[in-house]
Amino acid sequence: MNRKYRHTIIAGNWKMNLLASDVITYADELRSSVQGFYKWCDVVICPPFTSLPAALHAFDDSRIAIGAQNMSLHESGAHTGEVSGSQLEDIGVQYVIIGHSERRGYYGETDDSVNKKVHAALAKTLKPIICVGESLDQREIGVTADLVAMQVKSALFGVKEASLGSVIIAYEPIWAIGTGRNATPEDAQVVCKEIRSVIRSLYSAKAARAISILYGGSMNEKNAYDLLAQPDIDGGLIGGASLNPKSFASIIESANQD
Ligand code: PEP
Repeated sequence: MNRKYRHTIIAGNWKMNLLASDVITYADELRSSVQGFYKWCDVVICPPFTSLPAALHAFDDSRIAIGAQNMSLHESGAHTGEVSGSQLEDIGVQYVIIGHSERRGYYGETDDSVNKKVHAALAKTLKPIICVGESLDQREIGVTADLVAMQVKSALFGVKEASLGSVIIAYEPIWAIGTGRNATPEDAQVVCKEIRSVIRSLYSAKAARAISILYGGSMNEKNAYDLLAQPDIDGGLIGGASLNPKSFASIIESANQD
């Protein structure tokens, strides 16, 4: 990471775990496990929709921001079961994960819907955390760089450089998510650097230098320090390990490097 030019961001993705009634205990344990962590990184927690109000309330006296795990590409109307950007913004949500591989893989998200959701988020005050990453087959046949570049270009199609300050990219190799098998720091660095060069070619050297690129995929308290020490990895998107406030706190501490 490079804190001179960009924000370090540690984001927890709770996926479909924990109840609204678990949030207060979680918040208390996280607070008691780490002190003053706002100095070196931004912390984001992305609980399920049903726990967003409880999380906003539990963390309203801290600098921990709250994110959603998905949003509708539509603004309002006949979209049963969907939640819009306005509705997230209305309750105080600041971030939204877009294009997580579980949504792409199980719920039909495409590069096109990801792009539309990115625009819908940026039309509000929501900061999209755009997830990209390859499957094991794609890695083995050697198309990781091309695939990730295409995902980044598609997600950002039509996004102006002026909006890029609100955009975060998360490189999440699918084979590393929830498997306990993280990418090596060196392999993750190669792809995150590649993503930065895509931003440079699409926008400018200044934009590439400023954008925060996270790594996600079995990041935990043991491997976080080395992953976060890589020059182009500006933080983590953490699933399983974020469910335990002590583990999440330890990852936040691992981001305290100079
Ligand atoms: C994720 O859900 O984005 C993720 C990276 O999960 P895990 O940390 O459990 O691999």
